[in-house]
Amino acid sequence: MPQAVTRARARLARMDVVVDCYGLGPLQTNCYVVRADRGATAAVVVDPGGNAADLRLELARGGASCAAILITHGHFDHIGGVADLAEGTGAPVYMPEGERALLERYADFAPAGTGGRPYMPDELVAGGETIEVGGISFECVSIPGHSPAHVAYYADSALFSGDLLFANSVGRVDLPGGDWDTLLDSVRSLAERYPPETIVYPGHGPQTTLGDELKRNPFLAELRVPKQIDT
Ligand SMILES: [Zn+2]
Repeated sequence: MPQAVTRARARLARMDVVVDCYGLGPLQTNCYVVRADRGATAAVVVDPGGNAADLRLELARGGASCAAILITHGHFDHIGGVADLAEGTGAPVYMPEGERALLERYADFAPAGTGGRPYMPDELVAGGETIEVGGISFECVSIPGHSPAHVAYYADSALFSGDLLFANSVGRVDLPGGDWDTLLDSVRSLAERYPPETIVYPGHGPQTTLGDELKRNPFLAELRVPKQIDT
């Protein structure tokens, strides 16, 4: 194979997705707009927590339409904009099956005045699926701990981790279905599955990398202790 072609393919294989972040909803939850490249006309939206009108305006400014909506978990601050965005764009909604009730019965779970509405998700996930949307291939990974059916979406070195893992912190485990050991297991499984340079795009706060968190995050100290071997 000519060297130029090999190089071009290698570059393509390494090409990262383009990620823009917007703080949406009452808690300014990170909503991510993901595109295969800067000029892509299809965008995938992760966790639209509110203000779908503003988000649609941003997409239109960038000349992009919404190809799909991916939800990491069902907490109200991650799904407040789903109904408006999905109805306005016709984009299919992917969400964890185990947390579908939080969207389908939004008003029963969200605090009053958060602006969201119930919506029936189009595609239910549990982890293990590959989702091809907007010219991007996303791996869906089960990462319970912060919530019981939480998933992450991974594409081209970018990991959308919802509220499992933050820069220098982790998600709370005191909400229904939360569990500390399960959360640690989920972080461990991500660390085993993806390289340290993987960029983590969390539900709150700045982006980080898996490697930096494994090295420095005070909540992950347990993962750094070498396993005791019984003799
Ligand atoms: Zn949450």
